[in-house]
Amino acid sequence: MHKTIIIKYGELSTKKANINFFLKTLKDNIHNSLTYQHTITYDYGRMFIDVAEENINSTIDILKHTFGIHEIIIGFIGESRELENIEKNVIALIKDHEFSTFKVETKRSDKSYPINSMEMNNKLGGVILKNRNVSVDVHNPELIVHVEIRKDATLYYLNGIAGLGGYPVGTLGKGLLMLSGGIDSPVAGYLTIKRGVKLSALYFESPPHTSEMAKEKVIKLARVLAKYNPNMNLYVINFTKIQEAILKNIPYEYLITIMRRMMYRIAEAIAKKENSKIIVNGESIGQVASQTLTSMSVINAVVNMPVIRPVACFDKLEIIDIANKIGTFDISTLPYEDCCTVFVPEHPVINPEISKCIEYEKLIPYEELIAEAIKNKEIIKIKEEEKKFEDIL
Ligand code: ATP
Ligand code: MG
Repeated sequence: MHKTIIIKYGELSTKKANINFFLKTLKDNIHNSLTYQHTITYDYGRMFIDVAEENINSTIDILKHTFGIHEIIIGFIGESRELENIEKNVIALIKDHEFSTFKVETKRSDKSYPINSMEMNNKLGGVILKNRNVSVDVHNPELIVHVEIRKDATLYYLNGIAGLGGYPVGTLGKGLLMLSGGIDSPVAGYLTIKRGVKLSALYFESPPHTSEMAKEKVIKLARVLAKYNPNMNLYVINFTKIQEAILKNIPYEYLITIMRRMMYRIAEAIAKKENSKIIVNGESIGQVASQTLTSMSVINAVVNMPVIRPVACFDKLEIIDIANKIGTFDISTLPYEDCCTVFVPEHPVINPEISKCIEYEKLIPYEELIAEAIKNKEIIKIKEEEKKFEDIL
């Protein structure tokens, strides 16, 4: 017998009209992530991925980071379709598995096979009962033994492991993530990638007020996100001149509001340039003064593009929980300054007024400064973080 990897799609299969596009994108995403020889075939029910035996574990690890997959299963293909041989293979397959209840599910993709599925279930079930001290449970078995009789071979598999769900990255178009070094924005990015949006990231730095280490931290976060969203671009905008102009000219309590309006303007300009349809950020209702509903609407007013805030309604602890699961929390909590925190006034305005913002913004030549900052942007091609290869077989 030789191994094959099977994946099942889950939510994907409900997208009837677009299913071909979704499956092709999933296939392409997997194809682009595999650096070694492989073949991928699929139908509407599942996808088969064949790689050399020594690459199976690393392939599974890649699939565990790929959105659009509901379940990942190791299958075994045996050349023979003889009953006796199938019985032997089934016993060999379950040998190392601990379980107390099971059922057999046979499928004949070749309907001319002389034993029908029900009979086959009974025969193989009987063999397992003889061989092991276990019982059959057709409703809620611990182990399901799948046997599929094909035209020229037999496919066997047991329970799989859960995939990440979501949609294949890219099926929903592109978005631009405002990525700070904090806890919230990487989580916001992850959740957006999960919905099939291909992300680029945008980071505002303010050297010398923010250090090279702070930037390194954002690059590290981007590398973690790139495990799910390969080949991500990170735009780095030097925000120093704009920030210093704000600091010099704007009343203290409006510093953050105006600063964020500038960030949004730049984000929208970059998003438009690279054909991103949304801006994504880590704002969470009520978390800080710039995230009251009034603040958010005054800040949001400078852009026309939808701003998606995936963690808007999450508690901090819920966000931290996801950050831990995806591996960004320990990076986000490294102690480097952020360009927002460098200049945070003690009493930022909680209910800013748009008319005042417009008035104050006249005090700085922001359009020129923004154009200059965008012109000088740095683009970093993010290489994804090494995936950890766990032996899950
Ligand atoms: P985070 O934990 O993500 O840093 P926060 O709670 O510190 O968020 P803010 O500093 O108000 O909140 O930032 C809100 C959002 O604005 C961030 O989640 C991020 O999307 C964006 N943002 C803030 N600072 C930057 C920055 N320097 N570069 C890019 N985006 C930023
Ligand atoms: Mg922050």
